[in-house]
Amino acid sequence: MSVDPNTPVLRNCIRLPLPEEELLEVTAKAKDYAIMHGAAMRSKTSFSPDSLNFAPFVLVPSSFPRKEFEKAVALQPIINRLMHNVAHDEEFITTTLAETIKVDEFTANLFNIYRKVLAHGYTQRTSLGMLRSDLMLESGCPELSPKALLLRGEAGEDGHATTAAAAAAGTGSGGGGGGGGKTKAVTKEEEEEQAKRNLHLSQATVSGITTATVASKDCKTAAYCCWKQVEINTIASGFGHLGPASKTVQSFVLRELGHADKLPNMPKNNALAGLCDGMVKAWDIYAKPQSVILFIIEDVSYNICDQRFHEFYIRETYPHIKVLRRTLTDVHREGKLGLNKELLLGGKLEVAVIYFRAGYEPGHYHSQDEWDARYLMETSLAIKCPSIQYHLAGTKKVQQALAQPAVLERFINDPEEMKAVGKIFTGLYSLDDNDAGNATYEMALRTPEKFVLKPQREGGGNNVYGVDIPEALKRMSRVERSAWILMDLIHPPLTKGYMVRPGAEMPPTIVDMVSELGIFGVVIGDADHIIHNYQAGHMLRTKLSTANEGGVAAGLGALDSPYLIDSDDDDEDEN
Ligand code: ADP
Ligand code: MG
Repeated sequence: MSVDPNTPVLRNCIRLPLPEEELLEVTAKAKDYAIMHGAAMRSKTSFSPDSLNFAPFVLVPSSFPRKEFEKAVALQPIINRLMHNVAHDEEFITTTLAETIKVDEFTANLFNIYRKVLAHGYTQRTSLGMLRSDLMLESGCPELSPKALLLRGEAGEDGHATTAAAAAAGTGSGGGGGGGGKTKAVTKEEEEEQAKRNLHLSQATVSGITTATVASKDCKTAAYCCWKQVEINTIASGFGHLGPASKTVQSFVLRELGHADKLPNMPKNNALAGLCDGMVKAWDIYAKPQSVILFIIEDVSYNICDQRFHEFYIRETYPHIKVLRRTLTDVHREGKLGLNKELLLGGKLEVAVIYFRAGYEPGHYHSQDEWDARYLMETSLAIKCPSIQYHLAGTKKVQQALAQPAVLERFINDPEEMKAVGKIFTGLYSLDDNDAGNATYEMALRTPEKFVLKPQREGGGNNVYGVDIPEALKRMSRVERSAWILMDLIHPPLTKGYMVRPGAEMPPTIVDMVSELGIFGVVIGDADHIIHNYQAGHMLRTKLSTANEGGVAAGLGALDSPYLIDSDDDDEDEN
């Protein structure tokens, strides 16, 4: 992807470049530190189940505007509730996916399971949602016209209240560590209190300007950034461990470089605890002391630390809860339903909670056996993360439908909340076989450089970007196009830093990068009630500014964590 030469550059956390000797020393140390603290993965090129490589990482944390970070954190419980409501709206899911499932076999297979579950009625009404809302800063935010800036500048006094509200709203990292005692339902007062805090925050921050002082080529200017959602993940939302682990590594580097004073600007990150506690809360709801938590895994897990640390956290914090790992193929072989539709493995172990870290792409289903296993689990009494309705709610097609204000109204009653959520969507367009879809098609052919074309897939590497779009679209029939959606490209500001990769030349050189922030959320409930709803930490992935995609497991991105900056920070450390 080409990068506009006028793209703003966010100010660095520390002065770069580092002297070569210091850079070599700290990088070598950081690589070992990363491996030894589980910021690691199995090698794809020389795989061994007995060894780990450090995961690619950015040496020092990348800057991120504090207000936008706080806004994203505060909005997460509202997004959780939105997705929960969407997942439980049969009519909406069915109509939204109607065209897509005619041509997309994978989504159609998922939908068939959904249809069968609906026909027989849910065995387990409670779902465990462990979501990750992914976002990028948009440096050319259209709503930030000079007039709007002026108005927002006046609203800037809200800054203090905003921070306080964010601190209050953002504490929900799952907490509840230790013990494994009974989980407590959120009381009505707590919900209302949290809603008020979130609302106050979203009003303050949505109307608040986010200015991050930047260093452009030779002059200083201000980058007015707002964030836009890239996608929302409802299945296998990874980096619950690698998110916090990135902070651990980068904090070490900053201390080694004599910048311990910078650490308070790296927000706390309890993603691992927040997510694992979510699984344990679901286990509590299932309420059978001998039952286990089952992780559904790929045949080969390269991103092993991001699964094992979850398992080890649960085992260490709640030693009475057993965790098992099985592939879909294993479940087909070993799994059956008991008299009350409980999922039994090997004839005796009862599964309370199923956490899918696989099953989100066609390659995970080698034959009908794996689909049968998915269906078996879906009809069982176990609490699924995600249940089939949550999985479908996370499709790109549903995201595109939600971006229309009239649709959002269906799921969010509060006008302020609706406004706040509406602002996070960038342009998303249907390619269904109708007038609107045809207009999208024509627009994509006219100005492809403005867009990204997405199919109903997860896991990276499936999208088509910019100038490649016309050819891809022209190869499809009108009907085939409805398996895809079109989205405005987001233009994040750049950061400059060192990216450290296994096997790469030493010392690393300074490169231009862009980041994507993921905010985790946990929501547990059924069609009528939400029992738990909280924000659960974050993760930051950073890629070369010229790369289309930045999956770390896919080898293009690097672990990172946010260094929060304010518009009025002094800038002595700029490079
Ligand atoms: P997947 O489900 O495969 O992760 P995503 O929608 O997250 O699909 O897209 C993959 C990657 O492509 C993102 O992580 C991001 O780097 C890039 N990307 C996706 N949408 C956009 C967009 N609208 N603007 C800029 N980059 C995007
Ligand atoms: Mg993604």
